[in-house]
Amino acid sequence: MEVVIATQNLDKIKEIKELLEDLKIKIFTFHDFSGFPKIEEGDNLRDNALLKARTIAKFTGKISLADDTGLEVKVLGGIPGAFSSRFAGRNASYEDNNRKLLSLLKGIPWEKRDAIFRCVIAITDPQNREAVVEGVCEGKIVEDLRGSQGFGYDPLFQPKGFKKTFAEISLKEKNRISHRGKALRKAREVLKKWAEDDQ
Ligand code: IMP
Repeated sequence: MEVVIATQNLDKIKEIKELLEDLKIKIFTFHDFSGFPKIEEGDNLRDNALLKARTIAKFTGKISLADDTGLEVKVLGGIPGAFSSRFAGRNASYEDNNRKLLSLLKGIPWEKRDAIFRCVIAITDPQNREAVVEGVCEGKIVEDLRGSQGFGYDPLFQPKGFKKTFAEISLKEKNRISHRGKALRKAREVLKKWAEDDQ
């Protein structure tokens, strides 16, 4: 089986590859194609994931797996959500987004700093099979950036039951408990089933 990861985000590719590496599938990324489309995202994780997966399946002719992820901060009414990558503006860096989040949460006490990472993964087969799975991870937004592993909001997100942020733990440990890890374990089952059906 051949699967293409429908993202140009190298940090996501690293995590997704680690979680699929023991399956008997050949993984492709945007590096393997020229003119890989860049997809304009909307305000809904599921729609975004489906749009990315469908576009890339059509473009490559291969099974495509797309991830759309958002950080939902309770005291802010669930933002940035689907706008997580664009929180501080269209071309915002991870640092810009983290700075904006910290400034919005300035003075908010620990009890009110609850947040959820939500990862939606869509898998689309050019032969019309399609599946959508989801994984969430609950935690809190810490008051200062901590750690240097991971990416995005990882230095600000402390998963429930842990004293460390995602940026202070290894990739293996993050994948074991994270939103993306949970969604990808469900996605693996879909891919295994499709591989069996193909035999
Ligand atoms: P999108 O899924 O490409 O729309 O990106 C969502 C944004 O959320 C990324 O640009 C990152 O800033 C952030 N993000 C996504 N996944 C993670 C994660 O696992 N840890 C920290 N931040 C993440």
